[in-house]
Amino acid sequence: MGLADTRQPATPNERRRKKRKPIVITEEKALAHILESVAPLPSRSVPLAQAREQFAARDVFARLALPVFDNSAMDGYAVVAKACAAGKSQRVIGEQPAGADRKLRIAPGEAVRIFTGAPMPAGADAVVMQEEVRCEGPEIFVETKVEPGDFIRRRGSDLSEGQRILASGERIRPQTLALLAAQGFAEVEVGGAVRAAIIVTGDELIPPGGALETGQIFESNSILARALFEKCGVSVAQVEHCADEASSIEAALRRSFACDVLVVIGGVSVGARDLVKSALNSVGAQTDLWRVSVKPGKPFLFGRAGACAIFGLPGNPVSAFVTFLLFVRPAVLQLMGAHRDELSLPRIDATLTEEVRNKGDRPHYVRGRVLHGKFTVVGRQESHALYGLSRANALLRVPPGEVFRRETVVPVLSLD
Ligand code: AMP
Ligand code: MG
Repeated sequence: MGLADTRQPATPNERRRKKRKPIVITEEKALAHILESVAPLPSRSVPLAQAREQFAARDVFARLALPVFDNSAMDGYAVVAKACAAGKSQRVIGEQPAGADRKLRIAPGEAVRIFTGAPMPAGADAVVMQEEVRCEGPEIFVETKVEPGDFIRRRGSDLSEGQRILASGERIRPQTLALLAAQGFAEVEVGGAVRAAIIVTGDELIPPGGALETGQIFESNSILARALFEKCGVSVAQVEHCADEASSIEAALRRSFACDVLVVIGGVSVGARDLVKSALNSVGAQTDLWRVSVKPGKPFLFGRAGACAIFGLPGNPVSAFVTFLLFVRPAVLQLMGAHRDELSLPRIDATLTEEVRNKGDRPHYVRGRVLHGKFTVVGRQESHALYGLSRANALLRVPPGEVFRRETVVPVLSLD
């Protein structure tokens, strides 16, 4: 016989507390696991017009110096600077517009009428703006001091041949595209095209445009998720709406597993009508993690079916929004070949216009608006409160137990 067991049987209260205490992992651990689970998709070459918001799949180097040739920065006259002393006339011997090089040549005391972007005539070492010149027939009088180099854009002064213009994993912005075009590239190699699927679940959901009966609401999460995917540079391949019914959810899941990323919204919590977790199980998908210590968004789920990364987001719109940005977006960007530094939302410093505190035990992503460097909380901070979310352009992460005083400068996550 061993020692007598002195433990008392659990009281009903203790039993309830135990039952209520699920295994919840930190957001850092959840994100690390998700990022380990998704690898960049194979790269592809796309026309520049399709490359915005994609990520460079390799370094790109300048194949041309920019400017490509010495040219005029102004509409005016190409001259020899030292011949332009006050009162001396210059004889205009020709005209050089932007376009074909007329191969003109000038000697001191001569000038060529020239326009912005036109190649410099041989012999000229400066351009005088037309506003600084008085014309008298074929002669001009320069009414300003002229230095060699004035208003000439020198070949290679902006960019040298061979210089790196794009790094692997870097986001391609409109201005990046302009540079690639100026280099004569018609295409660019970018990370893989992510195929995304969305499933929304709920008996109460009616597509916008229809008529509501008591107890029903308009479905808004699929439009939200689609827009968030598109903001990542991903076009959504399929969107489905399922009733809270195992067979319909299972069928939709099976149809979606051909995609790289599946977002299932609603039905991932602990209610009897939250069927997503069991449906995933029934169709052979694995659930890697469920419930993350964030507010809003605790019931978040991540799993896999073959090569498909599955994200279960809570149905409350603010929870769906926050968990998409915290977990889905970084995974999607990684699939697209983004550099690590690009995965989180941009951080900016802002001064709090009011005190913000978190009395809870999870990090709270507070929705607010940044204007001229000041952050103001907007709307009700509850996970169903869509109006406040619609006004928000930033999230403030408030750690558990934290009190941020008014006028404190805090880093906020920009949503724009
Ligand atoms: P659930 O996560 O399914 O328990 O849903 C939580 C809350 O979010 C409920 O009030 C749902 O009515 C609401 N909800 C779920 N899915 C959507 C959706 N697609 N659009 C709008 N509200 C939703
Ligand atoms: Mg539901």
